[in-house]
Amino acid sequence: MPGRPIRTFTVLPFLPARLQPLQKLAYNLWWSWHSEAVALFRRIDPDLFEALDHSPIRLLGATDQSRFEELAKDDGFIAHMERVETQLDCYMNAKTWFQERYPDSGVHVAYFSMEFGIHESVPVYSGGLGVLAGDHLKSASDLGVPLCGVSLMYREGYFRQYLNVDGWQQERYPENDFFNLPLILEKNPDGSPLLIEVPLPGKRIHVKVWRIQVGRVPLYLLDANIPQNSPEDRNITAQLYGGDTTMRIQQEVVLGIGGVRALRALGNPPTVCHMNEGHSAFCSLERIRVLMQEEGYDFPTAREAIKAGTCFTTHTPVPAGNDVFSPEMIERYLGEYMSALQLDRRAFLGLGRQDINDESEPFGMTVLAIHLANTSNGVSQLHGVVSRDMWKRIWKDLPVIEVPIFAITNGVHTQSWISPDIANLYDRYLGVQWEERPTDYEIWKRVEQIPDEELWRTHDRCRERLVSMARRRLKAQLKRLGSPPAEIEAADEVLNPDALTIGFARRFATYKRGALIFRNAERLAEIVNSANRPVQFIFAGKAHPKDHGGKEVIAQVMQNTRLAEFRKHIVFLEDYDMNITRAMIQGVDVWLNNPRRPLEASGTSGMKVCTNGGMNMSILDGWWCEGYTGDNGWSIGSGEEYTDLKYQDDVESRQIYELLEREIVPMFYTRGQDNLPRQWIKRMKRSIATNVPVFNTNRMVQEYVERCYWPSQQRYQKLVADQLAGAKELAQWRQKLLSAWNQIRIEAVDAPQASEILRVGAGLDVKANINLGSFSPNDVEVQLFHGVTDSFGEIPQPQTTTMSAVSSGPNGNGTTWTFAGSIPCKSSGNYGFNIRVLPKHNHLPHAFEPGVVTWG
Ligand SMILES: *Cc1c(COP(=O)(O)O)cnc(C)c1O
Repeated sequence: MPGRPIRTFTVLPFLPARLQPLQKLAYNLWWSWHSEAVALFRRIDPDLFEALDHSPIRLLGATDQSRFEELAKDDGFIAHMERVETQLDCYMNAKTWFQERYPDSGVHVAYFSMEFGIHESVPVYSGGLGVLAGDHLKSASDLGVPLCGVSLMYREGYFRQYLNVDGWQQERYPENDFFNLPLILEKNPDGSPLLIEVPLPGKRIHVKVWRIQVGRVPLYLLDANIPQNSPEDRNITAQLYGGDTTMRIQQEVVLGIGGVRALRALGNPPTVCHMNEGHSAFCSLERIRVLMQEEGYDFPTAREAIKAGTCFTTHTPVPAGNDVFSPEMIERYLGEYMSALQLDRRAFLGLGRQDINDESEPFGMTVLAIHLANTSNGVSQLHGVVSRDMWKRIWKDLPVIEVPIFAITNGVHTQSWISPDIANLYDRYLGVQWEERPTDYEIWKRVEQIPDEELWRTHDRCRERLVSMARRRLKAQLKRLGSPPAEIEAADEVLNPDALTIGFARRFATYKRGALIFRNAERLAEIVNSANRPVQFIFAGKAHPKDHGGKEVIAQVMQNTRLAEFRKHIVFLEDYDMNITRAMIQGVDVWLNNPRRPLEASGTSGMKVCTNGGMNMSILDGWWCEGYTGDNGWSIGSGEEYTDLKYQDDVESRQIYELLEREIVPMFYTRGQDNLPRQWIKRMKRSIATNVPVFNTNRMVQEYVERCYWPSQQRYQKLVADQLAGAKELAQWRQKLLSAWNQIRIEAVDAPQASEILRVGAGLDVKANINLGSFSPNDVEVQLFHGVTDSFGEIPQPQTTTMSAVSSGPNGNGTTWTFAGSIPCKSSGNYGFNIRVLPKHNHLPHAFEPGVVTWG
């Protein structure tokens, strides 16, 4: 090709020796959540830092040599730099929560995610899922959890958004400049790049491995863009969520299979894999293959072991949001695994089906993940309920309430989202421990001690900063569209730094209803245009490139922002990213969230707002069901769900107007002599004290350690010890379970008659004869399943009581045993009970896992 370079070379900034530590700081993303470090880079050249997405590496590359010479002689700067470097060294060497709690644990968690949002200068994220993953890494680093991240390194990342004159979203895909990202290439001992082989139909491709250091935690990113691969294959890692299903399955093969191979090649195979969403579920297949092909175990044994060392988190409350592939596609891409795992077509496809016998069911990544994980969880309590209902077909014999998918509510990494001004205020009035112990309620109670005046002035400053950022961006947007100079000038007068400011920024998926506020535009116009109590809105957010509906919502918002009555009070900022998030969640007074319940699995942006003293006005969906206390923000409605969507929009938009007119606006503008809104400030403090200690990723990651990683690690170790003896035993036992369980019968139940009335405090004694077939009483857990019955005759809140075998041996026929137990009657009401038999084995995570139950 003409003009093609015959050789390439890299130019690095030439830092004077004294400034070398800047390089080290720039290559550990630790800097991004430590304000002194951010301030250090900003000090080099504030405008340039701003213009370069706050990227220290690009800043160092673009700064003039003369400026470096100057800084090298600036003792103030050098002292600042040395302070930050010491902070980093202390951080890396400090004793951590994890080390204290789990010394010598031997755990190595690999956290797989299709995207990671760590900082705006590393554009390998699209939105909430990625930002959550990034916050997970930061908290894992803070807590010292032995964890690494695994993902893909996208050449173009996610798209950049700009809007045309009609307000229609356009997408740009600028190439990431790898040399100006904090990437470290993983190499072989001889210095050549480490290459990982990934199997695709009829061929092998290779990927290289980049590392980004996030505090103590490495994030490994796989990259298919190497000359050895065909041009098509090089594109596999071109875009995040781009392309079609073929692209998607290829990316998921690279992530799951390539990811495990990369960790092994790096000499650090995981003991526990955590799949953040089902995208990475192929990782379990690869780990099973290794045990089978390289160590000679059979599939049932290998599966038991790998399953024990795997955790899964689901994020998607709508069936369409879960990746599925056709059986043909799975055979094409995973055919090799089908034979490696020695499974026939039906058994292999069954791993991804809720009903193994349903030949019409496609292969679902979420189902695969659930089948091959030891723990499965949703991301808020309500999402747990929704997930149990969505996936109940996998456990046909269980009541929905017992489907073993629990919930760990999401959080945010407090230090990453807090404004330096508010952080400073917390330092002074809460003490600096809030940074290390963000989950300590006692510390957060002290927000009451922050003088109203100081909290308000600090928040005022954040709002002003947001307004000036919004104006600056708006001007740039107008310039780009070629607007007349007068209109560009006028952008300086848009918004008011003192007005009640409401933010709405998130992905523009239709269920989030970004334009709901405009449902009654006249009523909204009255609210925003009030002469002495003005209200303003700032919007931002991207729609997925293929989501036409979402783009329409953006266009609708844009058209409204152009109307005379809204122009000065409602703006839309293009190209939502973590930088815009930060400015918005730090500066708004109120964060609006109006999804259709229960489609918001958790939502996290509202949590970021609380950290900074803002408040939420939200539908009771996702995390807000748990966060809202009645006096720490506002709820739109009371958790209703609707079938008539138009009617829902009418009702809920009216509720928003009413909340604004009757409560929010009056409270914000009721000022004392000192011009302080005392009631408002009181609520701000409640918002901080009640939400911040709970909805943070330190609490969340601790929960993952305690409920997922550590139990999984222990089970995994137990099953793999002595050449997988435990796994083999469990596999054989499970085999028997599946073939012989149907012999079990509950033959006779002996309990007082239904007409009988018991007094509170008494117990109902029940005996049952149970034919265990070829099982012994040690293999089973016999339970009384009981509770108050509802009007359908069902038991909505069941309790269970274990029954024990009362005879020392079986009755006459040789396989029937008598079990007895007593149902405690703790309060009055109409009770019902049943008897059930569940499998029991001390290598099982819980009795529901095998999915077999015999009911009376
Ligand atoms: C926090 C964040 C999100 C998540 O927002 P939701 O409340 O979950 O909708 C999405 N995108 C960016 C850039 C974020 O910072």
